[in-house]
Amino acid sequence: MSAPTTLCPRCAHEEVEHVHASPVPGVWDVLQCARCLYMWRTSEPARRTERDAYPESFRMTPEDIAAATEVPTVPPLRPAS
Ligand SMILES: [Zn+2]
Repeated sequence: MSAPTTLCPRCAHEEVEHVHASPVPGVWDVLQCARCLYMWRTSEPARRTERDAYPESFRMTPEDIAAATEVPTVPPLRPAS
């Protein structure tokens, strides 16, 4: 397992909060970015946990975050078949 990330993978913010720890101590932690609210578990692949490996098309800047006012709605349930 890689070293704990202290930089948000999505927006590179340095303020990362520790949200939860694994039931067995030291196995994984759940972290959340204080700026963009991205949340990840430290045992996930590098493309989800490390800034350098995070896909460029999903990275965010402070400008992107300020402009992201729309939260996508949950679509209606499909009728039972
Ligand atoms: Zn972030």
